[in-house]
Amino acid sequence: MKKIIFLIAAALFITLTGCDSTNKKNETMKQEEFNYQPEQFADLGILRYQVPGFEDLSAKDKELVYYLYQASLAGRDILYDQNGKHNLKIRKTLEAIVNSYNGDKTSEEYQKFMVYVKRFWFSNGLHHHYSTAKFLPLCSKEYFAELLMGSDKSLMPLNEGETIEQLTAELTPIIFDPKIDAKRVNLNSDVDIISTSANNYYEGLTQKEVEDFYNKQEDKNDPAPIWYGLNSKLVKNNGKIEEEVYKVGGLYSPAIENIVLWLKKASAAAQNDLQKKTIDKLVEFYETGDLKKWNEYNILWLQDTLSTIDFVNGFIEVYGDPLGHKASYEAIVSFKDQEATKRIEAIGKQAQWFEDNSPIPNEYKKKNVVGISAKVITVVVESGDASPSTPIGINLPNATWIRKEYGSKSVNLGNIVFAYDKASAEGVLKEFAFDESEIELSKKYGPLADNLHTDLHEVIGHASGQIKDGVGTPKQTLKNYASTIEEARADLVALYYLMDQKMVDIGVMPTLDAAKAEYQKYIRNGLMLQLNRIEIGDNVEESHMRNRQLIAGWAYEKGKADNVIEKKVKDGKTYFVINDYQKLRKIFGEELREIQRITSEGDFAAAKILVETYGVKVDSELHKEVKERYSKLNIAPYKGFINPLLKPVYDGDKMVDVKIEYPDDFTKQMLYYGKNYSFLK
Ligand code: ZN
Repeated sequence: MKKIIFLIAAALFITLTGCDSTNKKNETMKQEEFNYQPEQFADLGILRYQVPGFEDLSAKDKELVYYLYQASLAGRDILYDQNGKHNLKIRKTLEAIVNSYNGDKTSEEYQKFMVYVKRFWFSNGLHHHYSTAKFLPLCSKEYFAELLMGSDKSLMPLNEGETIEQLTAELTPIIFDPKIDAKRVNLNSDVDIISTSANNYYEGLTQKEVEDFYNKQEDKNDPAPIWYGLNSKLVKNNGKIEEEVYKVGGLYSPAIENIVLWLKKASAAAQNDLQKKTIDKLVEFYETGDLKKWNEYNILWLQDTLSTIDFVNGFIEVYGDPLGHKASYEAIVSFKDQEATKRIEAIGKQAQWFEDNSPIPNEYKKKNVVGISAKVITVVVESGDASPSTPIGINLPNATWIRKEYGSKSVNLGNIVFAYDKASAEGVLKEFAFDESEIELSKKYGPLADNLHTDLHEVIGHASGQIKDGVGTPKQTLKNYASTIEEARADLVALYYLMDQKMVDIGVMPTLDAAKAEYQKYIRNGLMLQLNRIEIGDNVEESHMRNRQLIAGWAYEKGKADNVIEKKVKDGKTYFVINDYQKLRKIFGEELREIQRITSEGDFAAAKILVETYGVKVDSELHKEVKERYSKLNIAPYKGFINPLLKPVYDGDKMVDVKIEYPDDFTKQMLYYGKNYSFLK
């Protein structure tokens, strides 16, 4: 349910208003000296983030953070393997070359090879982290073979008796042939989405077989269901379908044993009993693979709102599986930003008011919105599916029934958002905003409005509404459209309430002008900017992008008669200008009402029509124009982060302090991780 990475349009904001306490706090650091974006290649920008307040943590808290940090990185290999069954072998080969190639490392060919290696690290595998399409090296096959021959054989992932020539022959087609494993997650519902997806969650199975396998297990009347298939690979052995469970003694055991080792140390250093119980339950889950324990863990985790140190660790998001059963490994360690949390708490406190005043049908409103907790966190490390590309807000757990019965925990990743803002360029705003007043509004309120949108999306949006009795979860009813519809629902709640006087009244927004800035940004992004992320000729695939285009495109159509959003062309350039903000708000409310109805009733047919009509297809002329305008700005559409490095200080056996460093070399960090956290073959 995370609001995945930052909207391109957030790159529009360069100045920061003083309203946001996170920003103020960061401003006190010597940031002129801090290089927020040390590197850029292909379509990727490599950023860094600071961890303000780390030095002020007690020695005991730092120790806990350190253990959780190690537990996070210990699982890193798992995601590579989940993303594709050849990924670990390829990564080890690439790293062996980077570490030991004895030829010319300054040649143009070698630089092309390095861009491929860095893209591979960034995506945790062969496929683009966002589009999930396979990307290819720009160096030649012959050169790749040369690199292998010129590198240290003892570092290569060779099987018993295997030669370098054999390894080269095995890997070359996997890396260079665009037809092999072309897509990691195929959402095209016209074909078998399981057998055409290159992820490593299923082996030898068709979509029908997978659907039958889980349909048989799922009991729609179970009030406390487990998430079937969440932590396993489904394989067909001699005609028999079996689950290989991720656990100690099961699949990925060496990595999971290491996670457990560090979690046990963390448990001993926990801040309080509930946190200790929470960590112990996670250990039990990893040791048994029992998904009931995963549910119990999630309930404990969301109830722990007192600990200032917190973490995400486990098999969390299901975007990597077109059927939404299998979850990817992900970990984040953080501590609470007390000041900035006041803003998000003010919004969380109004959850029932927001629900009661929502434009959704009354029968689908929650009578009693429970347990919404929200905070702004300062991230210390990210791993697995949260790294290098990261979410900026997270709302967990994902199980609908737990959210309904116990609520959820919602966080905004304050120092990450801050780093994005610092690294972003003014150029995009100037290029795509219609006039000076739009630019001014964006500069003045952009960062605040952005944070408020994230807060509302996570704290209010995902937590609102309810499913009609007996209908089943959106995953079951809306299938491949479930993620898009859910993200649209949360975004629409945010858009609708941003323009509400309530936001001013509760003191989180100075004026409704801030909401105008967000409306402009959302329309610009949904109708134009995000097109820069996809290749000419492709449609929109990723759920969050589909959701944004769906909302913006549908609003444009709905408001056409009243000219609510106007398409203007100036000097041959296209702009979308909002003429009536209140009418647009009303349209967002109508969209929300329908999206909630679809979710509550599990109306697959309606979801399909909406998403396919507005969310998928691309206006090819406009697409070309956006790409052209962007290319002149030389800005990477995707960003990811180098993590800080923690170093414990010991006095004898006792850890007395933990030092933090901010590495600035992406390649070095990836090689360091490859060397120190390589637990799987
Ligand atoms: Zn979301």
